[in-house]
Order: sequence, then structure tokens, then C-alpha cells
Amino acid sequence: MDELAGGIRRVTLPLPARPGHVHAYLLPGEDGWTLVDTGLGLPDAKERWAAELDGLPGRIGRILVTHFHPDHVGAARDVGELTGAPVVQGRLDYAQCVQAWADDDWAHILVDWFHRHGVPDEVVSELVEQGSLYRPFIRYQPDPTLVDPGDHVDGWTVVAAPGHADGQLMLHRDGVLVAADHLLDRISPTVGLWPRSREDPLGDYLEALEATIALDASVAVAGHGEPLTDPAGRARELVAHHRERLAATAAALGDEPRSAYAVSFPLFGAELKAPTRRFAVAETLSHLERLVREGGARRHESAGAVAYTAA
Ligand SMILES: [Zn+2]
Repeated sequence: MDELAGGIRRVTLPLPARPGHVHAYLLPGEDGWTLVDTGLGLPDAKERWAAELDGLPGRIGRILVTHFHPDHVGAARDVGELTGAPVVQGRLDYAQCVQAWADDDWAHILVDWFHRHGVPDEVVSELVEQGSLYRPFIRYQPDPTLVDPGDHVDGWTVVAAPGHADGQLMLHRDGVLVAADHLLDRISPTVGLWPRSREDPLGDYLEALEATIALDASVAVAGHGEPLTDPAGRARELVAHHRERLAATAAALGDEPRSAYAVSFPLFGAELKAPTRRFAVAETLSHLERLVREGGARRHESAGAVAYTAA
């Protein structure tokens, strides 16, 4: 456990895939600590958390899950059982959590969706399998306390941070931003379009980045990597990055309709393994859909297939 400025403590937990770690944070408060995020629900999650929290002065008042991705929500139930603290999760995020991790139809929905976007049969099953690899390590808390942007959690303001996940939440207080995966040092957070999600996640993300610039926090701690000493500056870099990627996406389109799968090759390269291709297709789609809304591309739908041309 590391001690950061303002009495915030950081716990770093292992991940089997890149970036190899995820951070959880302990925020000091009048009414116990607020634990933000929980890591994967690996078989030894409870023992690991017991060891991390051993010797911590004071109790855990609540556990806040920033978003439903496996590395953040995975051990929520374990830590809830260990500490007896209630789990707090965003209303929209919890709905999407249940949809992704408890709906047996989800794999079929993904298969149809990859087909619609031009992924060949032999690749579809590989991409869908990738998504279920983490399933055994997701033990979210059923019936969490639901919160919405603008609510307060032990003196922290809950701030919406859509893009990486529609319902992702941050916490803000006195210039300190607990940024989840909204802003990361060096890595550009993935912003993908997935089935049953908001239709323009990149548009949501760019708006949320502008709001982050306006918030002008003095420091941000994130789900991965080191604290950011210039959160607004990092948000500006990410806006510029996506503007470049939008231009590259437009340049990959022509008169012949191309699927998101096809466009993911010039954008992300031909030599991707399944886990990366899966994100590449979703990320290509979020850029294509933003372009359509900005008048930089056209979408064509026929016979259950979606393709794009230059505007
Ligand atoms: Zn993450």
C-alpha cells in the first residue's frame, strides 16, 4: 500500500494481461474509508485484500465501483463480505454490469453484433471467447447502493465520465480527481462501441474530456499508471489524439462500403491477436459513428450488415 498526498492510500493489484496492474484507492473520510475499485475477483482476492487492509487504522465505510469492467468490479463482493461495507455503484453502470456478466444471451448478442460489423465467421467465435475469459473472475455485488452523477459520497462529488464505459463515475473533492479509467498517464483509454450501449461513446467521451478541462483539478489518480499532475492538460492531449484518429478513420474510407472490421486493419494493423482485434473493432466503430455524426462518413445498412463510406 502506498501513501499519496492528502492521506489517500493506493493499493496495486495484479492483472494477467496488459497493463499488468490496476489501482484501488482508499480515501480518508469522517465516516470511515471509501475504497474505490476492487481488482479482479481472482481465487485469492479475499486473502489478498485481508492482507492489504490488515493494520489499516479505521474501518472501510463503503466500497465504490467506478465501472463494471472486470479489473474494477471483479472482487466487489469479496471485499464487501470481508469488510461488511456496502458497495456503491452507478445506476447506469450497474444495469450494464448485470447485462454483460449475468445475461446468458450476451454471447449470442455479441456474435450477431460482430457479424453485423463484418467480422468473418471463423474470427467471430475467437473474439467472443475472449470476452468470456474473465467471467469467472467477476463477482460483483448484487443490490448495490445506486448513485448518479451529482450525488455526494462521504463529501466527494460523483462526476460522470462516459466514454470508456457509458456509466463510468469519478469522484472529485478540493481539486483532487479520482479519475477511474477516464484519464490515464501514457495510455489512451479504450473507447469502443458495444451492443446495447450508448450510440456515440466517442462523442460522450470528447464532451466528458471538455468537462474535465473545465473542472481543472490539480491532481488526478487513475485506475492504471501514475497520478496525473495536470489532468486538464492530459484531457487536452486525449482530445487531440482522438481528433487525429478521426482523421485517420476518415482517410481509410472511400466510395466502396467498408465494414468496421475492414477499417480496423488500416487503423490498427493486420497482425492483431484476438483480444486486441476485439477492442480494435469496437474502437473503430466508435470513431466511425462519431464521423457519421460530424458529417465525415456515411453509414449503410443492408441485409443485417453495416458498412461505411466517405461522406
Ligand atoms: Zn481499468
